[in-house]
Amino acid sequence: MTQGKINVTSENIFPIIKKFLYSDHEIFLRELVSNAVDATQKLKVLASKGEFKGELGDLTIRIKTDKEAKTLTVSDAGIGMTAEEIEKYINQIAFSGAEEFVEKYKDDANAIIGHFGLGFYSSFMVSKKVEIKTLSYKDGAVATRWECDGSPEFTLEDTERTIRGTDIVLHLDDESQEFLEDHKINDLLKKYCKFLPIEIGFGKETDWKDGKSVETDKDKIINNTKPAWTKAPADLKDEDYKSFYRELYPNIYEEPLFNIHLNVDYPFNLTGILYFPKIKSNIDIHKNRIQLYQRQVFVTDSVEGIVPDFLTLMHGVLDSPDIPLNVSRSYLQSDHNVKKISSHITKKVSDRLKEIFTNEREQFEKKWDDLKLFIEYGMLTDDKFEEKAEKFFLLKNIEGKYFTLEEYENLVKANQTDKHGNTIYLYTSDKEHQFSFVSSAKSKGYDVLILDGQLDSHFINKIENKLEKKRFTRVDADVIEKLIEKEDGYESKLSKEDEDNMMPVFRSRLPEDGTFFVQFEPMSETSNPVVITQNEFMRRMKDMSAFGGEMNYYGSLPDSFNLVINTNHPTVVKIRDDINTKLASQLAEITKEIEAVKADQSALEKLQEGKKEEEIPHEEKEKSEELEKKISNAENKKDAILTGYGKDSKLVKQLIDLGLLSKNMLKGEALEMFVKRSLELIEH
Ligand code: ADP
Repeated sequence: MTQGKINVTSENIFPIIKKFLYSDHEIFLRELVSNAVDATQKLKVLASKGEFKGELGDLTIRIKTDKEAKTLTVSDAGIGMTAEEIEKYINQIAFSGAEEFVEKYKDDANAIIGHFGLGFYSSFMVSKKVEIKTLSYKDGAVATRWECDGSPEFTLEDTERTIRGTDIVLHLDDESQEFLEDHKINDLLKKYCKFLPIEIGFGKETDWKDGKSVETDKDKIINNTKPAWTKAPADLKDEDYKSFYRELYPNIYEEPLFNIHLNVDYPFNLTGILYFPKIKSNIDIHKNRIQLYQRQVFVTDSVEGIVPDFLTLMHGVLDSPDIPLNVSRSYLQSDHNVKKISSHITKKVSDRLKEIFTNEREQFEKKWDDLKLFIEYGMLTDDKFEEKAEKFFLLKNIEGKYFTLEEYENLVKANQTDKHGNTIYLYTSDKEHQFSFVSSAKSKGYDVLILDGQLDSHFINKIENKLEKKRFTRVDADVIEKLIEKEDGYESKLSKEDEDNMMPVFRSRLPEDGTFFVQFEPMSETSNPVVITQNEFMRRMKDMSAFGGEMNYYGSLPDSFNLVINTNHPTVVKIRDDINTKLASQLAEITKEIEAVKADQSALEKLQEGKKEEEIPHEEKEKSEELEKKISNAENKKDAILTGYGKDSKLVKQLIDLGLLSKNMLKGEALEMFVKRSLELIEH
C-alpha cells in the first residue's frame, strides 16, 4: 500500500474546490460520466486497431446509489487504470498559479474545472471521500484501489477485482445527500447525458407481473446514443427531424417550421440541427433554448455570445469540440473561433431561408406569418443577415398575397407614387378597426398591406431609411386625399372666413385636453364629412417606445388625433349655411366693430410711422393697448357665439361622432347618446 501526497502547488486544493465551486455542484456527475464514456471509447478504438484483443462485452455505464452506505457509484467497462496511471493522471495534477485563477473565476465552476482538467476532482464538491476501484485492460494488470478523503493525502493499494473497467465511488457529504435520490439523478442524467454516445443505465426496467410492477434485470437506458445531429443528412427524413425535435423539447406541441442541419469540418468542427420554431406573440425565449453540446455532452443552454442574438430564438442543438466550452463567458465572447462560428451560423441560416424561398416558395409563404418575427428581429439586429434577408423578406397585403420588397415596389409604383416622387406603401395594423380607411384606400385602387406584428414599427422605420423614396403610411394617418398626394387636388367650397367660423363650432364639441386638432381639407363630396386621423410619425414613435418598454419623450406624450373636416361634404356646407343665416346679424355686428377698431389702429400706426419706440408719447401707447384689448374682446365674443351655436348643434356632434365611430373610438355612454341622437335626427 502506498500513501502519498497529491502533487499540487497549492497546499490544499480541495477546500478551494469546495469553497469556490458552490454553484453548479451538480456538474460532478457530468464529469464522471464523461470520463467513463471517454474510457469506453478509448477501449473501442484500441479494439478497432487490434491493440485490444479481448472481448469488449457489455459496455454499459451504470450509475448506482446506495442509500445505506450513502454512496453514489459510476461504473464503466472501459480501459481502466494501472497504479502508474493513477499516479500520473490523478495524483499529479499540475497547478500553477492555482489560487490566483480560482480567485478570479470563483463564480464560474466550468471555467475552473476546464482550466485545470479538474473533471474528476469535481467529485470532491459533493463527497467527503472518493474511491477509485479499477482494473486496466492491459495484460497482466493488477486491480487497484485509490482513496482520498479530500485532504491532499491519498491511499493507493492493490485490490480484488476481476472485471475490466473502473468504479468511482463517492461517499457523499452531509450537504449532498440529495444525490442519493433517484429522481435527482434521473433529472441530472436527462439534462447532461441524454445524448452521450455510450449507453448509460440507471435503475432497471420494470415489468407487469401478477398485477404489480416488478423489476427486471434489464438496465433502464437513459440516453439516445445516436442523436439525429450525429447522422448524415442524407440518412434522415423529414419525420426524423420532427421526432428529434420532440425528443429535445417534449413540452412543445407545435411542430417546427423548418430545420437546418449543420455539418461543418473546416475551419472548425461543428455539427447540429437548428429549428425555426413557431414564434407567436409571446416569445418564450427562456424556456426552450438552443442546447450546446461538446461531443454529445450537454454543456449549456445559454448560447448568448456564441450565436447572434436573434438566433437564440431558434431551437435545436449545436455540438462542437472546438468551442472552448469550459471557460468563462467573457473569454468565450472574444474567442476567435467562437466569432467565426457565430457568423457561420448566421450565414447558414440565411442561406437555408433563401433556399426554401427559392425552391419552395409556396411552403415559405405558408409559414411566413410564423417566421416573420424571427426574420425581422434578425434584420433589425444583424446587418449581414439583413443584407441577405432583404431578398426573401415578404410583405403581405390584406388579400393575403405575399410579395418581396422588389415585387411590391413594381406592383404599387404606378398608382401610389405621390407628387413628390415618393412611393407610399399603405398599411393597416388592424383591418377591422381601420375598416373605413382601408375601404377608402381600396376604392382609390390602392393596395393595403397588413403590418400587425410586434416589431413592424421598428422594422419599417429601419427599411424606410434604406429604401429610397419610399414611405410606409398607415391608412388612418391622413384623409385619403392626402395619404398619397397627387397633383389634382379638390377645390374647397368653404372660404377662409367660413373655416374661421367653423373652427370654434366644432371645437366646442371636443375635449379641451388638446387630444384633437381641428383641420379643414377639401375632399370628394362623397367622402366622409369628418375623418379622424393620427399622424404616422408620432404614432409610430409611440408604438416603438411602447414595445421597448421604456418611456422616452414620445412614449410620454398623450395620444393626439386630427379631426379633419371635409369642406366639400354637403352636410358641412349645410352647417356653414346655417351658421351664416342664423348668426348673420350677430356676426356682422362684431365684424363691423372689429373693422372700426382696426381702422383706428391703422390711423394710429400711421401717426407713429418713422418714430422710434422712445419718441412715441405715453398716451398713444396706452391708446394702442386699449385698441388691442377691444379687438380681443370682440373676438372672444364672436368665439362665444360660435361656441354656443356648436354646443346646441346636434348635427355637429353627430358628424364628430360618426368620425369617431368609424375609427372605433366611440364607446360607452358616448355611443349610447349617439344612438339616441341618431334616432331623433331620423324622426325629424
Ligand atoms: P480530463 O478528463 O479532463 O483529462 P480528469 O481529471 O477528469 O481530467 O481525468 C484525469 C484522467 O484520469 C483522465 O484523462 C483519464 O486518463 C483518467 N480517468 C479518469 N476517469 C477515468 C475512468 N473512468 N477510466 C479510465 N481513466 C480515467
